[in-house]
Amino acid sequence: MTRKGKGKRKRQKAGLNRSLLDVAIGMTKDAIKYKVIEAGGVYLEAPTQKLKPTQRCAKCWETTKKTLSDRIHVCQHCGYQQDRDINAAQVMLAWARGQELASLDVEPSSSTNCGSMRQLGALKRQKRRVQRSDTA
Ligand SMILES: [Zn+2]
Repeated sequence: MTRKGKGKRKRQKAGLNRSLLDVAIGMTKDAIKYKVIEAGGVYLEAPTQKLKPTQRCAKCWETTKKTLSDRIHVCQHCGYQQDRDINAAQVMLAWARGQELASLDVEPSSSTNCGSMRQLGALKRQKRRVQRSDTA
C-alpha cells in the first residue's frame, strides 16, 4: 500500500504514504499507552521537537549539534561521552522525572484522532448519529 508512486503522481503518493505511516505510528502509540496503563504505569509523551533528546546532553542539559551519522554523543560543554541513543534515553528519562506528578492526572496531550481509516469512519458516523438524535 505504501509502494512508491511514479511520474506525476510521485509527490501525491509520497504524501499519502506519509499519512498512512502516521496512522500506523498512532496505532502503535495507542497500543503502547493501553499496555502501560493496563500494567499500572504512567504514559508520558516527550515533546521531542522542543526537548531535542539526541542533541541534548544528559549531564549538563546543553545542546550539541549532530548529524544522523554521529553515533556517539560527545558534549562540547562538559565533555560527557555516551552512545547517542543511550544519551537520548537518559535525556527523556530525566525529562519524565522532572514532570510534576500532579499533572499526570491530566490526559496526555495527544487529543488528535489516531487509528485506522475504519475506526475513524466509525467515530465520524457515531458523532453524526449523536448529532441527529439531538435534533430529532
Ligand atoms: Zn554536557
